[in-house]
Amino acid sequence: MNPVLHSPPKITVGVTEACPLRCRHCYADCENAPKAGELDAQQWIALLRELSDQGVIQVYFEGGEPLVKPGMLDILRACSPTMMTKLRTHGWGLDDTLAKALADAGLGRALVDLAGANAATHDAETGVAGSFQQSCEAIVALTRVGIPVDALVILTQQAAPELQAMADLVAGLGATRLGILRLYPMGRARQAWSELALSLDEQMAAIAAVRPPAGLGIMQSWHPKDRNCCWQAAAINAFGRAIGCMYLREYVDFGDATKTPYGEIFRGNAQYRALREGPVEESCGDCTAPQGRPGGCRSTAYAWHGRWSAPDPFDLTLNHGIDLRTLPPARLDG
Ligand code: SF4
Ligand code: SF4
Repeated sequence: MNPVLHSPPKITVGVTEACPLRCRHCYADCENAPKAGELDAQQWIALLRELSDQGVIQVYFEGGEPLVKPGMLDILRACSPTMMTKLRTHGWGLDDTLAKALADAGLGRALVDLAGANAATHDAETGVAGSFQQSCEAIVALTRVGIPVDALVILTQQAAPELQAMADLVAGLGATRLGILRLYPMGRARQAWSELALSLDEQMAAIAAVRPPAGLGIMQSWHPKDRNCCWQAAAINAFGRAIGCMYLREYVDFGDATKTPYGEIFRGNAQYRALREGPVEESCGDCTAPQGRPGGCRSTAYAWHGRWSAPDPFDLTLNHGIDLRTLPPARLDG
């Protein structure tokens, strides 16, 4: 059984929804400029100090592109003495100088996105020439200053045939793990779904075919191999709203984390509690494992079935013939 948590141990923060890239799948529908109402660096520092005082021991920064957030290094410096810090980036501008500054600011781990094993595939996804080179150089620069790096790839039609080449590439660049992530029907990914999405069988076959080179770990976000993380999840979007998980960003709003302590929202919001602890209609055997909440990911369960208690169609045993290449009408319209 999971321990009952009264406040979250870890938090994800989307510090900005600005980004210089134009990924076809971007869940935050990012543009170059920040959106109106985003918290500034001082507001983030105040909020994250409060979270640290409430017992949060890890903060994971994402975006948008966190490296274009004004004051990002100040935010890191403020967090790193009391919390493990992780940062997800496409490596924009991440040269040796910036890598050194990130190390000096106390960054604990970096996660660098790649969309393919070569510039043609990657740059076609990001819409920006040279972005593949940037991601690769970022992995090298971070590794050189001693920051451990996970490379991340979202499993799409374009990335699947290149998974093995990506594993070989990132191992050579110095990454310690390759995280293979599922595609979620949010933001621009909804519009481009038919050009990006694979069936569940295609996804499973692509992952099973990867033979990681020595020293490279493989992570993957399919239940039950990767356990449901809702039971402990906490996230705040760029506007200071508590949303539980970045993959719930289009479905929930649990309140203003700048006005109400996150722990109060965590305990007090009935929908949030139901997502973490509520019953699910169906589950698979592995879900009894410690720290696993049954039924798979709540985000994709809701996206396909419109019910928070529904089974996750990205789980082989719970898929029941759903073709993940086709979105349900509510997601196509919504
Ligand atoms: S790099 Fe990330 S934030 Fe930027 S456009 Fe791509 S998916 Fe969106
Ligand atoms: S919605 Fe999915 S990815 Fe997000 S915390 Fe829940 S299980 Fe994890």
